[in-house]
Amino acid sequence: MATPQEDTYWHKGMRRKLVDSIRRRGIGDEHILSAMDALPRHFFLEKAFEEKAYEDTAFPIGCEQTISQPYTVAYQTALLEIQKRDKVLEIGTGSGYQAAILALLGARVYTIERQETLYLRTKNLLSKLGMHSIRCYFRDGSKGLPEFAPFDKILVTAAADKVPRPLLEQLAIGGMLVIPVGSEVQRMERITRMGEREYKTERFDHFRFVPFLKGVEKKG
Ligand code: SAH
Repeated sequence: MATPQEDTYWHKGMRRKLVDSIRRRGIGDEHILSAMDALPRHFFLEKAFEEKAYEDTAFPIGCEQTISQPYTVAYQTALLEIQKRDKVLEIGTGSGYQAAILALLGARVYTIERQETLYLRTKNLLSKLGMHSIRCYFRDGSKGLPEFAPFDKILVTAAADKVPRPLLEQLAIGGMLVIPVGSEVQRMERITRMGEREYKTERFDHFRFVPFLKGVEKKG
């Protein structure tokens, strides 16, 4: 997306309906719901999808990737229990929508993308939107961002067969990692670092994410 578009009453009305539907599906955190109500999701999609931006579905964003479904964004964000000033690492920048929601909640966001095209496009969009607290990196997210560790929270927005060890190591003690684990269908897991070598795993609902891939892909 080159230039943020207009945010009209029509968009705001559609957004309100979307947020109400997410609330009805069981997301009760009003901070998250207000952030979703404030953030124009159509800014993060191609103009062609503008009419559909406020449906509760995933959409293509190029490079065979998708912007996550709004309900899934709310669900993962709720599991992270974001506090203001939390240092958060996101793996899978994609459109930047999830990173922007985290930033609106007051988190200091570091986000990694392996597709150079998406990395460049989203970095540019976030800067145009004035979201300067989000730092974007073009890397393989399975290695995390060791130079900025430890993180209070880590969020993976692609499906992992298993939990990458570097991400566990880069969690602060008391910190939490939220990650969808599995191949065809994934189970949402929340892993809390209880001590130097002690982790607690909780398992939640099933989802379908695009795969977590190895290495980086340069702009073709
Ligand atoms: N959070 C995004 C969701 C994007 S879909 C949003 O709000 O739009 C998942 C993203 O993860 C894709 O852009 C994909 O390219 C990226 N991805 C997959 N494997 C990765 C890896 N190993 N490192 C970094 N990003 C990865």
